[in-house]
Formats: sequence, structure tokens, C-alpha cells
Amino acid sequence: MTTTHPTTSHPVTADDRTLDAAVERSNVLDRLIDEQAAAHPERFRVLTGDRPTGPLHVGHHLASLRNRVRLQQRGVETFVVIADYQVVTDRDAIGDIGENVHGLVLDYLAAGLDPERTTIFTHSAVPALGQLVLPFLSLVTDGELRRNPTVKDELALSGGRPLSGLLLTYPVHQAADILFCHGRVVPVGRDQLPHLELTRQVARRFNARYAGGQPVFAEPEALLSDVPLLLGTDGTKMSKSRGNTINLRDTADETADRVRAARTDGERRITYEPARRPEVANLLRLAGLFTGESPQTVAERVGDSGASGLKRVVTEAVNDGLAGHRARRRQLAGDPASVTAVLHEGNRRANEVAERTLATVRAVMGMAY
Ligand code: ATP
Ligand code: MG
Repeated sequence: MTTTHPTTSHPVTADDRTLDAAVERSNVLDRLIDEQAAAHPERFRVLTGDRPTGPLHVGHHLASLRNRVRLQQRGVETFVVIADYQVVTDRDAIGDIGENVHGLVLDYLAAGLDPERTTIFTHSAVPALGQLVLPFLSLVTDGELRRNPTVKDELALSGGRPLSGLLLTYPVHQAADILFCHGRVVPVGRDQLPHLELTRQVARRFNARYAGGQPVFAEPEALLSDVPLLLGTDGTKMSKSRGNTINLRDTADETADRVRAARTDGERRITYEPARRPEVANLLRLAGLFTGESPQTVAERVGDSGASGLKRVVTEAVNDGLAGHRARRRQLAGDPASVTAVLHEGNRRANEVAERTLATVRAVMGMAY
């Protein structure tokens, strides 16, 4: 008899078991952060990041930015990589890279990341990261990279492009991004778990193969967000590249327009039924995440006012919830030189740390001449 997975309803696979174990470890980590991070922040050093492919959306705010600020407030040192080379893993053009990077920094600062305590840097400005990739590449096989489910999915979504060397190896670049600063906690979405598993293998294998078993690199842990995957206005995953987002930088009127365009259904009475009414449920969750209510409570509040009533409530919740963020962002945008200064300082600090780690790696490998 096969056992059925409670979430997917498919027979349980090895991937499900790995996912369940990761979720369990992430839950333990979440409790440890609450109990110990304030007393021992060094055990929880965070590395996280985003691709500068477009403006950040409410999914980023709810799933990752809030968590980053929470860790920072407990005194945990945080590194945020703006993964600019990763923009061209699945597309040919780099796009408005300068503007996108600038916009990301504005949203980080507006969300409450403090550049005194958080190192915000761009991948391309830290050459030692590229060099760390070389020994790390020696620790993985092409079969392992080709089997990576996220690489396979991203290849399938990349519009018939052949598999580039960068897409195939970017999980190893990510391993360098995490290990260079000895990141211990990596806040990620579920799609990133296979990459994190590879980073753990790279750390383990480096220690065993090149460092005679000394713990040069600790194995980092994934911190999964408790926000379910937020859907966009078209009913698929909200993503920068899909044109289905509610952006953090939008005005209140733009938000109203975006929410008005969201897919719903024709039933007058609004109820929270995720399986039968996924788009309505997503909007109820979105409003509730901003107001602090359960989706059921939001549904009761909307009652019989149908999709238009629901959208009014969602628009108000998002606009109220983001009002402070947007005001801070507008103010910061008036001073572009301060954004550049944040990046310069972040890049300087990241280079210092990366060069130190690279020197250790070369010494351990006997390459200090
Ligand atoms: P792109 O379309 O360029 O891939 P994206 O919107 O998927 O952009 P990323 O920069 O790839 O954004 O993701 C950064 C992190 O933000 C992810 O690890 C994930 O945890 C989180 N995230 C992105 N989209 C969502 C979403 N819709 N719901 C919840 N979390 C999300
Ligand atoms: Mg993405």
C-alpha cells in the first residue's frame, strides 16, 4: 500500500520527505530564533537576497522583508545580496539594472533594514565571490546540477532557451554567496530548498575533502516563511517578471487599479474556501496579512458585498499597511546619493569579508604562496 502525502495528495516521494524534513527543521529554527537570537546573535547570521529583475511586490514584503527586519531587531548580523548576475540565468537582456538595483535598496531601507547593521551589496562588485565558485564547482557533479528540480523548472519557464552554463551552475554561485559570510540562516521560499541542500553539501564536502575535516564552513539552515505562496492578480504566483504584482512602490490609486483587475468569481457572499475559491481566498489572506485578521474574519466583514466589496477592503488594507513604507520610500528617493552610499559601504564590507574567507580557503588548500 502506498502512503499519501497530506499536502499534495500524491504518493509520498523522496522529495516530499526532504521537504517535510526541511519544514520541520525550519520550525525548530524559528523557535530557536525567538528563544536565543537576542542572547547569541552570532549563531544566526543571515544571508538573503533578491534578483534585480523589477520592483519588489507585496509577496516580498510579507514573506521576506518582515522576517529580515525581525532578525535585525534581535541583533542578528544580516547580509543582503542583490544578485545582479542572476538576472541573466533565464533571459537574454539584463534590463534596467541600475534602476532596479536602486529600487531594491529603497524598498529595503523603507522596510526598516538599517545599513549600519545590515550589509547590502551587489554580487558583481565582490570579485572574491567568483573565485570561491571555482573550488566549490569541483565538489559537485554535473548530474547533481542537472537533477536540481528548481533548475529544471526555471529552464522549462525560460521560453525554450538552451540550458546555459550560468543557469546550470547558479546554485553553486549561491553556495558562494551564502558561505562567504558564514551565513547560518537563509530565509527562502520553498523553491529554493534544493539550492540550500546543495550549499550544505558543498560545505560538508569542502571540510572533508580540502580541510581534513576541520569545520571551515558550517552548514546553513533554511528559514521558511509562514506566508503561503502569494498569488498575483492573474491567479498564478505573484512574480516580478509576470506583470501580476501589487508593487510596494505603487501609489494608492495604482494599487486600487491593480486590485480591481484581480481575478475573482461572481458569488455575492464572500467566504474563505481556499480549495473551491482560490482567488477569493488569496485576496482574503492578503488583506488579513496586512490588518492582522484571519481570512475568515475578513470574509465575515465583507459579507454580502461581493467581489467589489472584497476589493475595496483589500485595497484599503494594502494601502493602510504600506502607507508608512511608501512615505519613507518617497522621502529616501529624494536623496539618490544616499542609496549609492549604502551600496558603496555594503560592497566595501562584503569585499572585506569575502577576501578574508577566500584567504582561508586558499590557505586550507595549500595555495598561500
Ligand atoms: P522573478 O519573477 O524575477 O523571479 P520573484 O517575484 O520570483 O521575481 P525573487 O527575487 O525571485 O522574486 O524572489 C525573492 C524571494 O521572495 C523568494 O525566495 C521568495 O521567498 C519570495 N517571494 C517571491 N515571490 C513570492 C510570492 N508570490 N509569495 C511569497 N513569497 C515570494
Ligand atoms: Mg523568482
